[in-house]
Amino acid sequence: MNETFVPLADIGRASTRAPVAMQRVPATGLLHDRLGRPLTDLRISVTDRCNFRCSYCMPKEVFDKDYRYLPHGALLSFEEITRLARLFAAHGVRKLRLTGGEPLLRKNLESLVEQLAALRAPDGQPLDLTLTTNASLLARKARALKDAGLQRVTVSLDSLDDAVFRRMNDVDFPVTEVLAGIDAARTAGLPVKINMVVKRGTNDQEILPMARHFRGTGAVLRFIEYMDVGATNGWRMHEVLPSAEVVARIGAEFPLRPLQASAPGETAQRWAYEDGAGEIGVISSVTQAFCGDCSRARLSTEGKLFLCLFASSGHDLRPLLRAPESSDDAILSTIGHIWQGRSDRYSELRALRAPDTSDPGAPRRVEMSYIGG
Ligand code: SAM
Ligand code: SF4
Ligand code: SF4
Repeated sequence: MNETFVPLADIGRASTRAPVAMQRVPATGLLHDRLGRPLTDLRISVTDRCNFRCSYCMPKEVFDKDYRYLPHGALLSFEEITRLARLFAAHGVRKLRLTGGEPLLRKNLESLVEQLAALRAPDGQPLDLTLTTNASLLARKARALKDAGLQRVTVSLDSLDDAVFRRMNDVDFPVTEVLAGIDAARTAGLPVKINMVVKRGTNDQEILPMARHFRGTGAVLRFIEYMDVGATNGWRMHEVLPSAEVVARIGAEFPLRPLQASAPGETAQRWAYEDGAGEIGVISSVTQAFCGDCSRARLSTEGKLFLCLFASSGHDLRPLLRAPESSDDAILSTIGHIWQGRSDRYSELRALRAPDTSDPGAPRRVEMSYIGG
């Protein structure tokens, strides 16, 4: 099946596929890495391409017309992704997140969603299946994604001010279309979270307008500290606005109280509006590293397994997947060994260095658009 990229005209077309049979996986027992962290969460990058050029992720100067993206043959097929997801579930993964690049650029993504939604954990429960998107194509895709079995969606939105938003996506994309995507998702019955990356001096003036806009709507707004991911975004510590300041600014207008984490390994610290208008979250990857609870693995578009967002290399599972003689057991055992050898804790180590310094001997980190955010 050719499922590379979506001709815009095809987006939102109804599915004509036969229903996918439910697949329950055998349990292998929970895995733990060298720091005692379980493997519970798999982020799957379905494309390294994007139609935005957010400067903190895919700066235009680097991701220009000469940039070499992965060739079609390198991409894992939907069947390969689903097979791997099934094996990860056998090792304890309960949460799958589709990401990229911009995942909605991958053609027939709803077909992958349908296959993943048919997976069952050893206890018979479906896996938690979600997607992170810039929402540029969500208005046209939300219904098909929901019908295919997607459970939730996270939309990245850095500003409500159209001029600021256009500048940040750097392709002049209007904010109204993202808001229409959010509306379409909610109308389709998909719960929505909103992720705002905060860059001091770029969009921090948008924190309060965003809070005012989304409180009371049921959509959970989460503020992410600007991170030094990849090697191209020119990250500087002075552009990081600590989450504590986000909470203080919002709390000064709308009193907040802290909430318990809803699940172990949750990246966001949660705060409730005292007046009952919902909650916000802050993801403090820079100022309060949470490596100690990090139970996430990342699968790149071409099938490399990364153990940390800041890794410089991954473990290539594709040759194993494509070798005719490779059994599920062989792949399970490889994944098990890789996870059991994991000791990554980049953000904790970064916090021990002086701000704005890098580890001199460190190899170049992979880009977030490739590894999956
Ligand atoms: N294109 C999709 C999107 O933007 O939602 C999915 C991929 S994107 C890499 C995933 C998430 O990473 C987005 O919420 C984005 O804002 C976040 N992100 C990218 N670069 C970042 C950075 N330097 N610091 C913090 N978050 C970043
Ligand atoms: Fe694209 Fe998402 Fe990266 Fe922005 S953050 S450039 S939308 S992949
Ligand atoms: Fe996990 Fe790596 Fe981020 Fe630490 S730095 S929380 S290990 S992805």
